[in-house]
Amino acid sequence: MNRETDAAIETDVLIIGAGPCGLFQVFELGLLDIRAHVVDSMPHVGGQCSELYPDKPIYDIPAYPVIGAQELVDRLMEQIEPFDPQFHLGHEVRSLERQPDGRFLATTSRDQSFLAKAIIIAGGVGSFQPRKLRLAGAEALEGIQIHYKIKDPNRFSGRRVAVLGGGDSALDWALELHERVAEMTVVHRRAEYRAQPASVSKLEALAEAGKLSIRQANLTGLHLEEGTLTGIDLMAADRSVERLDLDDLLIFWGLSPKLGPIAQWGLGMEKNQLEVDTAAFQTSEPGIYAVGDINTYPGKKKLILSGFHEAALAAFAIRHQLYPEEKLRLQYTTTSPVMHERLGVKG
Ligand code: FAD
Repeated sequence: MNRETDAAIETDVLIIGAGPCGLFQVFELGLLDIRAHVVDSMPHVGGQCSELYPDKPIYDIPAYPVIGAQELVDRLMEQIEPFDPQFHLGHEVRSLERQPDGRFLATTSRDQSFLAKAIIIAGGVGSFQPRKLRLAGAEALEGIQIHYKIKDPNRFSGRRVAVLGGGDSALDWALELHERVAEMTVVHRRAEYRAQPASVSKLEALAEAGKLSIRQANLTGLHLEEGTLTGIDLMAADRSVERLDLDDLLIFWGLSPKLGPIAQWGLGMEKNQLEVDTAAFQTSEPGIYAVGDINTYPGKKKLILSGFHEAALAAFAIRHQLYPEEKLRLQYTTTSPVMHERLGVKG
């Protein structure tokens, strides 16, 4: 008995990464009648588009003179709806191993396993991780007094809390927690915030009413007493340093991508990217494919457009891998009744 494989979800294809290329991969597989499960370490789909620049316009998506990055993701989600992809969000795929029967066993950070005949890695520039404080002693306090995510807001009741950051997460948590904590200080290095204007106005109004404090400063030091965090040093623009006493530090400096576990799977790599051929976009391991920003080949350009093309060819290669005897014909979505049936549209 093997606990991991017994509880595993069995699927023809597992797509690792729900960025634009992973999403379009669902579509290309679906046209060839192949269903997929999709895993992403983020709690939402969209990869870099949704995480790094949702409101920015993109000008080089074919047939869209301009489209917002999040809008592109929303459109892709709409386009893949007929193929009913099964999403597993908030799961980072940690390990990937070939099994004796030739399938791959992928296991996530939340102990979900998948047994798949083919794997498509659409991991982009990696999983997004919170940007962390790099001061001596900070790592040991992670999850104790220094927090990058909040599971239970009640644990901060009656405590002196500083929230660091100027984006939506920082301001949302400062606004949500300020009433239950003993003291709330928001620390941001600039006067301008990246958060929604409505949140900024609320924050400023609360500061004016004396319900919380705002400091424009950089965090330069931690004060520890017998391993407990008692305060922080804040350096203002004039280089003066102020000590702020506190119990908890909540840090929301955004997320940065880290290639993470993908690099440990024994696949051929060049400069942190997976080497693939340009006919099937297969990696050095037969049955494992890579599309989008994660792959490299002569002439590779990290564009969404390139990833879409790669997804189409990888889908054909996987169809051939799954059904080697079949003679696969190219069919147009415009005219093919089979395609119309798969798409659920009337011809
Ligand atoms: P990503 O979008 O990076 O998505 C990869 C996903 O994989 C992520 O969600 C990540 O969490 C997940 N992942 C990684 N590892 C794991 C794991 N082990 N387990 C689970 N999940 C994992 N491109 C253009 O074509 N035109 C533009 O105008 C343009 N503008 C841009 C502007 C900015 C500011 C930036 C940052 C990029 C821009 N790009 C543009 C680039 C474009 O966003 C990328 O080419 C595209 O996002 C790549 O898509 P992807 O699906 O390969 O990867």
